[in-house]
Parts: sequence; C-alpha cells; structure tokens
Amino acid sequence: MSSKDFLKGFRDAKLVKRVAGEIRHRVSQPWSIMEICGGQTHAIMQYGLDQLLPEEIELIHGPGCPVCVTPLELIDQALWIASQPNVILTSFGDMLRVPGSTSDLFSVRAAGGQIRVVYSPLDSVKIAKDNPQQEVVFFAIGFETTAPANAMAVVQAQKLGLENFSILPANVLVPPAMHTILSSPNNRIQGFLAAGHVCAVMGYWEYPTIAEKYQTPIVVTGFEPLDLLQGILSTVEMLEDGRVGVENAYPRVVGFEGNRAAQGLINQVFKPVDRKWRGIGVIPESGLGLRNVYQDFDATERFQTGEIRTQESEICIAGEVLQGLKKPADCPAFGTLCTPNSPLGAPMVSSEGACAAYYRYGRKNQ
Ligand code: SF4
Repeated sequence: MSSKDFLKGFRDAKLVKRVAGEIRHRVSQPWSIMEICGGQTHAIMQYGLDQLLPEEIELIHGPGCPVCVTPLELIDQALWIASQPNVILTSFGDMLRVPGSTSDLFSVRAAGGQIRVVYSPLDSVKIAKDNPQQEVVFFAIGFETTAPANAMAVVQAQKLGLENFSILPANVLVPPAMHTILSSPNNRIQGFLAAGHVCAVMGYWEYPTIAEKYQTPIVVTGFEPLDLLQGILSTVEMLEDGRVGVENAYPRVVGFEGNRAAQGLINQVFKPVDRKWRGIGVIPESGLGLRNVYQDFDATERFQTGEIRTQESEICIAGEVLQGLKKPADCPAFGTLCTPNSPLGAPMVSSEGACAAYYRYGRKNQ
C-alpha cells in the first residue's frame, strides 16, 4: 500500500464526521484546548476541523512554529553573517522571507549575499566540504524534531575535519514552553494536544510531570484529520471525567520512550540553555546550545555576533498569538498591513504560522 493510500484512511469524511459527532456527544461545558504545533494548526484550518467542532470547544493555537519563535536578534545575526564576505549561509526556505529589523535574507541575497536553501543540515556539510575556501554557516532552527539532524551535521563536520563549517544554534524545546504557558497568570489552557512529531523523537516521558503539576490533560496527537479529532476527543473525555494525565492518540508513530538513539545524539552535541522566544521572552533551559567540546562549530563565537540587539515591532502581537492569548484576527494589522506578500511578523511568513493559516484558509473574523 502506498503512503498516499495509507493516509486516505485518516482523511475518510464519514469517519471524521463520526468522531466529530462523538465529541459533540461528550461535551457538556466550554473547554479551551491548545494544539502546540503549527503543523496541527494548519491541518485544522485546511480540513475545516475547527468548523466541525461544537462551539463549546475553543482551539487555541500554540507556539509550535520554529520560524515564528526565532527571536529577531537571531534573524539579525543571520542577516549580518550572510552579509560578510566569503560566507555562505544555508537555511531552510521558510527563513528567507522572515523579516529582521531592517531586512530579510532574500534582500541580502539580492544584494549579493551567498544564501542557499537546503533541505537537510547535512547538505550544508557537503557545501562546506565542496567550498573549503568559504565559511559555511547553517541556521539551525527547529524544535526537537530537527535537533538530531542538526547534531548529526556537527558530528559529521568534526569527523571530516571541516574547519569552515559552523551552525547558528536556534533549536528550541517544547516542555519548557508548556511550563511557561501553563504557569502564566493569564493562562486559559485546560488541555493540550502534544505535537506528534516532537514526541516521535522525544517520547512523552517528560509530560506526566507537567500534567500532574498543572492538573492538565495532555494527549499526544498526530496531523491527519482523524488523528486530530481523536486527540481532541481523548482530551475532551479526560476533561469531562476530571482525569489528569497523558494519553497517546498517535500510537502508530509515537512510543513512551521515543527514539533513544536520537535523544542520545542530541545530548552528545547539545546542552539545554536559556533561550529567548520571539514575543515571549527568555524561557529558562528552553534552547539547545553546543556543548564545550563542539564549541568550535558555534557561529555566534566564530563571528562574535553577541552584540547585536534589536527591538520587536510595536504593531505585531505575535507574542500574544504564540501564547494563545489572542487570535491572529485580533491583530489590527492582520490582512491589511500584514499579509503573506508583505509580512510584518514571522507567524504570517512561516508555513506553520498561525497568522498565515488564518489568512490562507479565510478565518479572518475568528
Ligand atoms: S498578523 Fe502579522 S503583525 Fe499581526 S501578529 Fe500576525 S504576524 Fe504579527
């Protein structure tokens, strides 16, 4: 069976309606549920799942969009590095249009900067190997999902003895962000859909402590329509029954332990560091920095980028959107000053951004 045929089963309209009906049957009061991942937000909008749910269920969109939470300082650091002579900056395509303080990577490339889009950090290692006279810097953004490949690139570069390769470390971690959201005095989240792809790498052994501490059900959830509705149904059942804990609604991909080999690789190369999240601020131990033994591969050290300081846009309310405190359509710039063709903030640029999802799927008045 092809993967397309396999996935068809998880998009079956009759089954989708049936599970939506079960949710309606189970709900007796309003509940606010956050889907952490921007990929889930886009799937919910794309398939109109939000419109199938009873009005008691409010879906709140979380900060799980790596491009969106990358702080302006880091984008400006990447822009500065890309502007230096003899440097090739490599990046995932999404980052190219994300505005920094005064420019974006597209503009730097148009002005002569060497910026290449890659699909894997290992492509960047190859570029470094093929261009020994140039410095190659990979902009290493992402959640736990991309961290193993980013770690592998560093290990590979060390094995090959590449002295012209480095990364701009920007990986962030989900559990510290959940702590920050749930401990906020403004928190409205009563249940969480945990991101299935992050859990495929990390497992969900870190989540029972969070569920217990904040008395919040957490359900590991996938990305297809049935996966998402099943995750919402399980969360609603736990909320209605007054149960706290963690359930796995994505067992075909996720196990409790996750991928221990991938976790080992992450721990070998990276250590938890305090990291600023765009619009949210510094979250303790929420980022991955290089361990001392791999410090030579740290572009922030190599290019001394630490002095770059920036100011967030006063108009963009991305921070509140990313914490689930406001919806994209609450932003006065949404669809007017800020559109995908002329974005003011990262959530309107990224393929996982909530503002882009609302714009693309016409949720302008929600
Ligand atoms: S619509 Fe644009 S300006 Fe408003 S929060 Fe989203 S990205 Fe920022």
